[in-house]
Amino acid sequence: MFDIIFKNARVLDGTAAPWFVADVAVKDGYIVKVGRIEGEAKQVIDAAGKYLSPGFIDTHSHSDTPLVENPTADSKIMQGVTLEVIGQCGTSAAPRNMGLREQDESEITKMAEDGPKWTDMASYMEVLESQGVSVNVAPLVGHGTVRRQVMGVEPRPATPEEAEQMKILVREAMEQGAFGMSTGLIYVPGRYSETSEVIELAKVVAEYGGVYFTHIRNESAHLLEALAEAIEIGNGAGLPVQVSHFKAMREPNWGKVPEAIAMIERAREDGLDITADQYPYIASSTGLGSPLPASAWTGGEGSERLRDPEERKKILEQLKARGYWDSIVIANLEHPDDQQYIGESVEAVGRIQGISSEEAALGLLERNRGVVQIVNFAMNEDNVRTIMKLPWVMVGSDGSALNVKTAKGKPHPRNYGTFVRILGRYVRDHKVLRLEEAVRKMTSLPAMRLGLQDRGILKEGMRADLVLFDADAVVDNATFTEPHQYASGIDYVVVNGVIVVEDGAHNGARPGAVLRRRD
Ligand SMILES: [Zn+2]
Repeated sequence: MFDIIFKNARVLDGTAAPWFVADVAVKDGYIVKVGRIEGEAKQVIDAAGKYLSPGFIDTHSHSDTPLVENPTADSKIMQGVTLEVIGQCGTSAAPRNMGLREQDESEITKMAEDGPKWTDMASYMEVLESQGVSVNVAPLVGHGTVRRQVMGVEPRPATPEEAEQMKILVREAMEQGAFGMSTGLIYVPGRYSETSEVIELAKVVAEYGGVYFTHIRNESAHLLEALAEAIEIGNGAGLPVQVSHFKAMREPNWGKVPEAIAMIERAREDGLDITADQYPYIASSTGLGSPLPASAWTGGEGSERLRDPEERKKILEQLKARGYWDSIVIANLEHPDDQQYIGESVEAVGRIQGISSEEAALGLLERNRGVVQIVNFAMNEDNVRTIMKLPWVMVGSDGSALNVKTAKGKPHPRNYGTFVRILGRYVRDHKVLRLEEAVRKMTSLPAMRLGLQDRGILKEGMRADLVLFDADAVVDNATFTEPHQYASGIDYVVVNGVIVVEDGAHNGARPGAVLRRRD
């Protein structure tokens, strides 16, 4: 007796091989048979005319704390995602509160007082496991998080002692099963680190067979230099590199994409295992204040700082350099007086308030203690398509697992739509990719990147993470103006052999596992 049989599915095996019609049987968490299946099953699903593929792997997810608050991972599972790679862009849920240093407010510890407690990677994993989670999770340790633990947000290179302490924390996270380390070299505090600091930490990751994921130091005017640094780190530490959300920001830099691609391909020819991920939109999303000096608006000290006219002028100058205010739209903020600005560009906020865009931006940051989420329309559609077609580029949402019932503001629609948007818009409507190739980028390619031998391909003996979808019906419903809408066209999602999405609806099951490297 099988647990599930999918009957007459068009099987996409994840390798980019042409689809074929078969039945697929699942038992005890594994795919046990692919072919003509006569036996009985607890549940038989008529899959005729639908595509059955390995579950989608979200190579770049920020669900670290969202999964603690929303373990059903609705916005992801409804896209067919069965595994999220978290701990990205230098920020991971753990380690934290290790007693090495007082945490500052902007650290992701908002839920620490009443929410579940954890300190290191192992205890974070246990929190996820004890609550249960609907998707599988593969965590990275964030370089920025480790650096905060050791030296806060101090804008300077690490001393040798601090570097040693960071190495100990990275080693501990790797021992506890992290799949690698991520950096956010554009963010505080990652931006204060020198290349050599990252190489030294990456060497620890390399000892464990981990991967270096990086939000590179610059994605606009210095894209190529930042990419050269990522390659230097990979070669210097001797480990694989994943360039996160590969793109060129702002029109003057769009022409740099061909050279950026050539650099990565040359590095590959020279023997560096370097790959990238991408989300299929021309807008990015980040914090309005993210590249600005640390803690300018958080805590007493920060407010003091802003009261000093010289400091204020300096920050306004830095904001001015950011420019392009008409393409930067407010996605989310907390202050009640500012709710009306969600969905407006920063330029529009300035116009409404009768002040300059920079002053408007600073005001928003002050009132909201630096926490202002933005969506930034700064990419080029041709570049998005060029990058999408590269065989070494996989899919990563750069988004979090949200629930329409609790989510707020107008966050980037990638949280809800990434995977289905590729299948619908880019495969079916615009024929940018073959269906088989698109699915490879969501399955076997990221599984390979993580070193997972038992997921990412649909064949006998593999773990039963599966997605059944209707290629004619897949639509990413989330838009920039109405983001809180689940994708449609995903009929069934199976995680570790258990059905989570049934007839297009989440059934609440939480069969996900927190994976350890070499699990
Ligand atoms: Zn990033």
